[in-house]
Amino acid sequence: MGLDDFETHPNAAFPFRGGETEAIKRLEDYFFTSKKLGVYKKTRNGLIGTNFSSKFSPWLANGSLSARTIYWYVIQFEQEYFKNDSTYWLVFELIWRDYFKYISLKHKINIFLIGGILEKDYEWKKNLKVIEQWINGQTGEPFVDANMIELKKTGWMSNRGRQNVASYFAKTLNLDWRIGAAYFESQLIDYDVHSNYGNWMYVSGVGNDPRDRTFNVKRQAERYDSAGKFQRLWLQDTLF
Ligand SMILES: Cc1cc2nc3c(=O)[nH]c(=O)nc-3n(C[C@H](O)[C@H](O)[C@H](O)COP(=O)(O)OP(=O)(O)OC[C@H]3O[C@@H](n4cnc5c(N)ncnc54)[C@H](O)[C@@H]3O)c2cc1C
Repeated sequence: MGLDDFETHPNAAFPFRGGETEAIKRLEDYFFTSKKLGVYKKTRNGLIGTNFSSKFSPWLANGSLSARTIYWYVIQFEQEYFKNDSTYWLVFELIWRDYFKYISLKHKINIFLIGGILEKDYEWKKNLKVIEQWINGQTGEPFVDANMIELKKTGWMSNRGRQNVASYFAKTLNLDWRIGAAYFESQLIDYDVHSNYGNWMYVSGVGNDPRDRTFNVKRQAERYDSAGKFQRLWLQDTLF
């Protein structure tokens, strides 16, 4: 089976192809044709479709696109059209990406250790059945399950989804966060060691967020998927 031998799921949020040419095509479309860059800050917590966020991450992860290229296109957009909190925010998110690379350089293997960079001594569980239910979208928590099914079927999950399923895994189920991170590593089409382990540590309370927070998944679903459209999309999906 070759790398091209797969069918893209019709509901995939990332239906694009690989390579630099496709990356630049997407960038030009997101910035200059649809001008979605101009509303990025308002839409970035979305869950469905191609345009709620830039979708640059898979190309960034495999080196088809660089953060610098994106930065200079943002400057071009600001000079030709307008500068607002959305044009600022896309660059701000790219700085998070850089920051997690810096964290890896600084903390080295600690990013893979159970206590994370804060060397926290929490109690973690390893219940295979519960881990499998999470992986297969069978936890019984519909917002978590819908996101996990999307990941399984497409290799993609929104940032809002990732934060919720990771928090549910590490802070609600108290499962060893590194197992969740390793599953993401095996599935994500935009897997990046620094962003993945940096964000998992952050959400799990062993990384850069000094607050030990737990997402209220039900409240998150009400806020970001109030009509239940995203949950229905994946929970009723029988394709593939
Ligand atoms: C538990 C967890 C695991 C994650 N694992 C990965 C991973 O393996 N690879 C990965 O690229 N991102 C990861 N992220 C960060 C983020 O979810 C994705 O970068 C983002 O959803 C990609 O979609 P986008 O390109 O449309 O992002 P946009 O919202 O359009 O953002 C533009 C770019 O900014 C960067 N960015 C945005 N948010 C973050 C963030 N929280 N941390 C670091 N960089 C960010 C990305 O390079 C992204 O492509 C993870 C987040 C969480 C909570």
